[in-house]
Amino acid sequence: QVRQGQKPEGVCLVVGSCAQGYPKNDMGDLIVSFTPIQNQCQYFWEAFPARDGRTTYLFTYLDANPERPSLEFLCDEYFRLLPEYQGVDLSQLDFKRVLFGFFPSYQKSPLRMPWNRILPIGDSSGGQSPVSFGGFGSMVRHLKRLSNGIHEALDYDLLDRNALAQLQPYQPNIGVTWMFQRTMSVGIKQQLAPNQINQLLTGVFQAMANLGDDVLKPFLQDVVKFSGLSKTLFVTSLTKPGLVVPVIPQVGLTMLLDWMVHYSNLALYSSLYPAGKLLSGMLTTLPPKPRYYYHRWLEAWRYGSGGDY
Ligand SMILES: Cc1cc2nc3c(=O)[nH]c(=O)nc-3n(C[C@H](O)[C@H](O)[C@H](O)COP(=O)(O)OP(=O)(O)OC[C@H]3O[C@@H](n4cnc5c(N)ncnc54)[C@H](O)[C@@H]3O)c2cc1C
Repeated sequence: QVRQGQKPEGVCLVVGSCAQGYPKNDMGDLIVSFTPIQNQCQYFWEAFPARDGRTTYLFTYLDANPERPSLEFLCDEYFRLLPEYQGVDLSQLDFKRVLFGFFPSYQKSPLRMPWNRILPIGDSSGGQSPVSFGGFGSMVRHLKRLSNGIHEALDYDLLDRNALAQLQPYQPNIGVTWMFQRTMSVGIKQQLAPNQINQLLTGVFQAMANLGDDVLKPFLQDVVKFSGLSKTLFVTSLTKPGLVVPVIPQVGLTMLLDWMVHYSNLALYSSLYPAGKLLSGMLTTLPPKPRYYYHRWLEAWRYGSGGDY
């Protein structure tokens, strides 16, 4: 309703199943790729043990161009490649559930409500990253912030759209992930080397692994921080410039400039949060309205820079 039919800039198609009959495997995969670009898509896979067997997903990051493959086509691709991914024959599997769906994501996020007294929570707020499947996890991570903020808004009767918008603030650490989305997708008419995305991801994940758990773990748990991101970019650019240079024409100048704005804001938010926290003690005497706004800014700086991790 609020977006008025606007086309999402990013779409992640997902198909998968939960099945029994796999060889015993208690391990999960967060992101796996074993094929080059096909059908203008880079296929990614995810798997984890589930109560009713093993869940496996095939997903791919696209735009919303109507020429993109359908979910039905992707389902066929899933069944074609699943045996290779999990080392099983389809005839061995007893499928319990099959799923298909897509995540739309909008660059103009979080959603700005044009109405008073209405606050979107969860996926409808557009506060989650365009690359992760962690919409639910993201909402849980923000639950304390949202609960306290809603409580304050109700207490002080600050329920107009501007006051409520402070509860779903801009997060530069989500903004920067748009570039990741673009580096993992292929334009409908774009010609990329078949393994360009695989090689880039291998290089970046190697750099993060070498930098240690402080860098790798938050990223895998869907939290981007200025320090970890900067170190990864620095190491990857220095050690593997051949992987980084092709990204520029792939994503385009506009996306790169947009990313630079989010990256600078990430640096800014990372320094504003500790500075803002220092002032907390002095600001307890503020009247309710400025105090409410100050608390929301502090939370925006904290969560927007991954300071909640
Ligand atoms: C394949 C897949 C895997 C995922 N894996 C994970 C994961 O591992 N970890 C994780 O954290 N997240 C995961 N997610 C994301 C997670 O499922 C969502 O972030 C979460 O369900 C969002 O919850 P929600 O209540 O905000 O929205 P939803 O669950 O989408 O609920 C919105 C509800 O509103 C209803 N609705 C819509 N419009 C109207 C209307 N006009 N009137 C009345 N009702 C309406 C819808 O039917 C729906 O029931 C996954 C999602 C998918 C698709």
